[in-house]
Amino acid sequence: MSDYKFFAQVNRAFDIAAQYSDYKQGLLDQIKICNNIYHITFPLERDDGSIEVIHGWRVEHSHHKLPTKGGIRFSMTVNEDETMALAALMTYKCAVVDVPFGGAKGGIKIDKSRFSDEEIERITRRYTYELIKKDFLGPGTDVPAPDYGTGAREMGWVLDTYRQLKSDINAEACVTGKPIPQGGVRGRTEATGRGVYFGVREACRNEEDMKELGLETGLEDKTFVVQGLGNVGYYAAKYMIEGGAKMVGVAEIEGSIYDENGIDLEELMAFREDTGSIIGFANTTELENNTSVLKAKCDILIPAALENQLNEENASKIQAKIIAEAANGPTTAEAHQTLKEKGALIIPDNYLNAGGVTVSYFEWLKNLSHVRFGRMEKRFEESSFRKILNEIENISDRTFTEAEMGQLARGADEYDLVDSGLEETMINAYIELNELRKEHDIDLRTAAFLSAINKVGIMYEQMGIFP
Ligand code: GLU
Repeated sequence: MSDYKFFAQVNRAFDIAAQYSDYKQGLLDQIKICNNIYHITFPLERDDGSIEVIHGWRVEHSHHKLPTKGGIRFSMTVNEDETMALAALMTYKCAVVDVPFGGAKGGIKIDKSRFSDEEIERITRRYTYELIKKDFLGPGTDVPAPDYGTGAREMGWVLDTYRQLKSDINAEACVTGKPIPQGGVRGRTEATGRGVYFGVREACRNEEDMKELGLETGLEDKTFVVQGLGNVGYYAAKYMIEGGAKMVGVAEIEGSIYDENGIDLEELMAFREDTGSIIGFANTTELENNTSVLKAKCDILIPAALENQLNEENASKIQAKIIAEAANGPTTAEAHQTLKEKGALIIPDNYLNAGGVTVSYFEWLKNLSHVRFGRMEKRFEESSFRKILNEIENISDRTFTEAEMGQLARGADEYDLVDSGLEETMINAYIELNELRKEHDIDLRTAAFLSAINKVGIMYEQMGIFP
């Protein structure tokens, strides 16, 4: 699907929203443009001694606030246009949820499955080194995080490489989404999926919208299909199910499955771990290919993989009434229009998946302040935090020593703090978008872009232009 110009798609949505703002074209152009674009190439010595040239990018979209912030993606879809689009979306996303960062994004064009863990580590470290060399990394400059194809392990390598080369008391704040012992924050791994759940829950609480869609208010008994069981899709599905919704379809690289009676998420994950595929799981029906489940019967469709998945080819056949954009840019501009005409409610990416960067912000604050977030107050109330512990630490039922209890209580308390901050952020932003939507009679995506344009625009206006 590389013929979709992703950055142009983002700008189309921006331009629609810009009509409702008071800013002149010059300032709008200033917001839209990517400030710094860096194409990095370096050689990798493969385990067998051969040499392969690796291409990577880092784009800082907007310096209206610093540091700039955004994930690093490892995927064959990575190119300059994609990185620019994703960096721009980060700017708008941060503005929508009032997280004080400019937007950025990075990516390395690799098929991870072709490389050993050692090779991935060398690629990550060299990429990090190249970023440092050009001042594209630092606690107050540009702060990466995980994205498609990367996770805590890679972020740990980014931090360690930075620490080897810089003597910086705030080094831990140069990257978020790190492993907990390296300054990560509890709740970051699940944050994007959890935020998706909070956002969908908010949307489903809106009586007027649900009535218009012919649905009951609330999440209870709503059916959903999820595309992608990676970090975002898995946690979004998990919390949706805990909130009372029923997962009826799943799409992954190997294909898609459907069962109107509901699919057990944990059993499916275990099955995929064993067999390497979701196909053949329990009573599910295998569908034609890995995108056909997008058109299956369900109330909520959650694309949680890559961009341009809902497009001209499938939009008119999509049956879901709510499109919950957990991925970045999953709906093309044409598909957005088609779905809108069909009456669907689209909860846009630059609001709905902002949970990740929101909790990244908490992690960054924790690192900069050099404090622990958790308190010891719950030290002896084991039952009150055991559920959370099971969730975040994967700790099985056993008794703890008093010292362990203290550590765990602190961890559970940190998780609680992060989670309530995330919930409040997602609820407040939804309320804000909903008001803008009503005021201008626009859809939620346009409201999200308008909210971002207003917030970024006023900063540019007040700052003036240097020199
Ligand atoms: N990669 C995530 C996103 O697309 C998180 C970015 C971050 O935490 O900086 O929102």
